[in-house]
Amino acid sequence: MKIAVLPGDGIGTEIVAEAVKVLGALDLKFEMETALVGGAAYEAYGHPLPEATLKLAKAADAVLFGAVGDWKYDKLERSLRPEQAILGLRKNLGLFANFRPAICYEQLVDASSLKPELVAGLDILIIRELTGDIYFGQPRGRRIATDGHFPGTEEAFDTMRYSRPEIERIAHVAFQAARKRSKRVTSVDKANVLETFQFWKDVVTEVGEQYPDVQLDHMYVDNAAMQLVRAPKKFDVVVTGNIFGDILSDEAAMLTGSIGMLPSASLNSSNQGLYEPSHGSAPDIAGKGIANPLATILSAAMMLRFSLKQPEAAQRIEVAVQSVLTQGLRTADIFSPGATRVNTQEMGAAVVKAL
Ligand code: NAD
Repeated sequence: MKIAVLPGDGIGTEIVAEAVKVLGALDLKFEMETALVGGAAYEAYGHPLPEATLKLAKAADAVLFGAVGDWKYDKLERSLRPEQAILGLRKNLGLFANFRPAICYEQLVDASSLKPELVAGLDILIIRELTGDIYFGQPRGRRIATDGHFPGTEEAFDTMRYSRPEIERIAHVAFQAARKRSKRVTSVDKANVLETFQFWKDVVTEVGEQYPDVQLDHMYVDNAAMQLVRAPKKFDVVVTGNIFGDILSDEAAMLTGSIGMLPSASLNSSNQGLYEPSHGSAPDIAGKGIANPLATILSAAMMLRFSLKQPEAAQRIEVAVQSVLTQGLRTADIFSPGATRVNTQEMGAAVVKAL
């Protein structure tokens, strides 16, 4: 079981260290190798995704990723910015399916910004297509407009596009995931306005015919954004394109209390995967030792389940996380009066102890 460990920037190094400790406490043998990525790699090698890092990631069964980015790199040309490393890894490893479970732990119901009765027991799975859509579509760029409202002025443009095979494969992933849950899929689109998403809706509907045991419904993205805060428990598996999924999954994150709790998995067709917390590098708290490592630790659990085929070890970690929450241990982001405040390392150590 080969794991490429890419901590990245900001709190990335702090939280990945705790996840590595937790993996080390299992009675399993891993080959772990660490490499620089993001701003840290740019500083050392002049590129956010150096050849050696990409090679290590490709050769591994799974990548454990922290986070990349810092405001100080915002002035770099786009191809050298830390965030390009994630896009590069997704593209080079063919990681087209992003799984983001949003689970509201009973112990953290009060940390959500929504009323407890709306989020208690929440367990939804957002499946976001990750390698297509407007984030990758060509052509894109800046030019002088020849038509539109202001011809002769500067404009910028991106291209939203999806091919049939891209939609089919993510739809299959969603229907198969739903079969292991409550057999309901909501496909989110903007078919009323966008050609790309009318096509998305048509293709998902066709694929759905192969899964008569799974109930499929469709929702426009604006309505989905509203329903997620109105009645989030009505959803089970949500499948959507890259840009809508990016936004909706962060919205869903906040239902659960803190983005510091949410793991994610990005998989390719051979189950090789990149596992990372849903949050970024949090430059505002980096170096303070107060970041919540649980999203990264839970991402390591997803890695054990999906790519390394160790479901029992995955479950042990998940149970250990529940146990530290039940003990009342909280990092600052999920703290509430009456709980015991712990720092990043203490939270990691508590999970190891619970294991
Ligand atoms: P962010 O997720 O880093 O932070 C948003 C807020 O949540 C901040 O207040 C932060 O302190 C808090 N937060 C995030 N993770 C936390 C944790 N584990 N524990 C406690 N609090 C936590 O998003 P941002 O501030 O918009 O972006 C910061 C940098 O991260 C940017 O450079 C951005 O491009 C990058 N980014 C990277 C990724 C990634 O590596 N996958 C994802 C999103 C953003």
